Amino acid sequence: MAESMKGMHRSHRCTEVSSANIGETVTVMGWVQKRRNLGSLIFIDLRDRSGILQIVFDEPKVGVEGFAKAGTLRSEFVVAVTGTVEKRTAAVNENLKTGDIEVIASDIRILSESETPPFPIEEHSQTKEDLRLRYRYLDLRRPDIQRNLMMKSKVAMLLRNFMEKEGFLEVETPILTKSTPEGARDYLVPSRVHPGTFYALPQSPQLFKQLLMCAGYDRYFQIARCFRDEDLRADRQPEFTQADMELSFVDVDDVIDVNERLLQYVFKEAIGIDVQLPIPRMSWQEAMDRFGSDKPDTRFGMELVNVSDIVKECGFGVFTVALEQGGSVRGINAKGQGAMPRKKIDKLVEFAKGYGAKGLAYLAVNEDGTYKSSFAKFMTEDELKALVEKMQGELGDLLLFAADKNKVVWDVLGALRLELAKQLELLDKNQYNFLWITEFPLLEWSDEENRFMAMHHPFTMPMEEDWGKIDSDPGAVRAKAYDIVLNGTELGGGSVRIHQNDIQEKMLEVLGFSKERAHEQFGFLLDAFAYGVPPHAGLAYGLDRMVMLMMKCDSIRDVIAFPKVKDASCLMTDAPNVVDDKQLEELALSIQVTAQEEKIV
Ligand code: ASP
Repeated sequence: MAESMKGMHRSHRCTEVSSANIGETVTVMGWVQKRRNLGSLIFIDLRDRSGILQIVFDEPKVGVEGFAKAGTLRSEFVVAVTGTVEKRTAAVNENLKTGDIEVIASDIRILSESETPPFPIEEHSQTKEDLRLRYRYLDLRRPDIQRNLMMKSKVAMLLRNFMEKEGFLEVETPILTKSTPEGARDYLVPSRVHPGTFYALPQSPQLFKQLLMCAGYDRYFQIARCFRDEDLRADRQPEFTQADMELSFVDVDDVIDVNERLLQYVFKEAIGIDVQLPIPRMSWQEAMDRFGSDKPDTRFGMELVNVSDIVKECGFGVFTVALEQGGSVRGINAKGQGAMPRKKIDKLVEFAKGYGAKGLAYLAVNEDGTYKSSFAKFMTEDELKALVEKMQGELGDLLLFAADKNKVVWDVLGALRLELAKQLELLDKNQYNFLWITEFPLLEWSDEENRFMAMHHPFTMPMEEDWGKIDSDPGAVRAKAYDIVLNGTELGGGSVRIHQNDIQEKMLEVLGFSKERAHEQFGFLLDAFAYGVPPHAGLAYGLDRMVMLMMKCDSIRDVIAFPKVKDASCLMTDAPNVVDDKQLEELALSIQVTAQEEKIV
């Protein structure tokens, strides 16, 4: 039967007990990790979120009743133990923080019993994630997940410390709100009081933080939950946390300055990493040209090389047609991989096709100086020589080429570069390469929508020197937008905002917003700007991602207490679920169920 804690107080967490407490009486509480019976002695490993402590039950010390109780303990029983700290008599366990001591119990209470858990509560679990997520409350007991969540709490605290010191105010913004234009689909919440209308959950606090700037709160930050109904992607969560900020009377360099110091402070205090300042900056164009990505992993080379000039008149149609259609031919050099078997190369070709390539051309420079290539027969000796030279190809290298529209070539080679780095183990997990990407294009053409879309969001300021091109060549206008990238992952991003009405109006026009629609969607922001708005800029970090990188986790789910899976459902609560007819009636909603899906009309 479960006992109460009456009169018993926890004195220490398990690993707060150390050899400094030898001889003292302590009371610890937690879960039984395992029990071993050694005849006249019973041992348990007691676990709480700090770690493990060995408890010894010896009948003369704990009494007949206590010893009998200890004999019934099974994994995950919750117990309270009082006892004396002693130096371990048996061998010291080097793997445990408390490996040199043990507690000799004088009293034990069983606070609750446990059924056999569906999987072992252990570090580096081999259990399938689906099962762990169904019993997330058990999974959360595992030390690796506990460490991640403790780190997340610490990082949030460090961020708050830093922001407070720098004069930022933490201000909450609404969760029940109107659509924010971050480019994903909104989650909608029906209104009962206003039947037929909906709130949107915020994709970010963007509009509100800009309004706070209008209102004079010149440095704002918030650890804010954001919601985005994006298509199924393995490592996305429908709700996630941003460390969000906005500053008034600033330009790009001011935002970068404060954030560099923030990163330096947080990474040092959280994981002891020294971030060297200034963090290097690279324009978007350079990042695409050199790495085929706007979030390059700069821990290794294998940079892209544009060989369009060399192949433009060659006899290989794949190259020349791509160039005629305004595309490019680029390559990467997989150093020393010239002997890669054909089968493996074929796999790389398949991989490239997954990123939109029609194929992948290759040329291996054999050790004897001859070539093994998918296209050499279409080229002259001189052309081949020039190509290999431009690629800095040496004996034993494998050169891989993509020919297509620039965007496809960048996507393919950018992804291939990363894939090869993984295969060749070029990624040093202990290296932290930070990089600012700046001067993003303001607009991005969408074939689907047949119009320009904002690359960041519609409130992002164009670069003054490019604004003149907004009518003649809108795609060439760069923005005062920046991303902070760590080891190939976007850690955060932001921009200087438009605070001039004429620029904002023009921007909305280019994006295809009618005056009415713009007013309907964010008229309150445009109105606010009519009453005196300071120049302002901001940035938001993905907090989950930041902690994921700090803890070297493979998945964002490992740093979120109750995550959802790929189809945005929660395996533990079964959300989303159907609701009562009465609730629907109150909301003036009826459900139309088709064979495959449930649709709200
Ligand atoms: N609201 C932006 C985002 O969520 C960040 C920013 O511009 O500050 O990406």
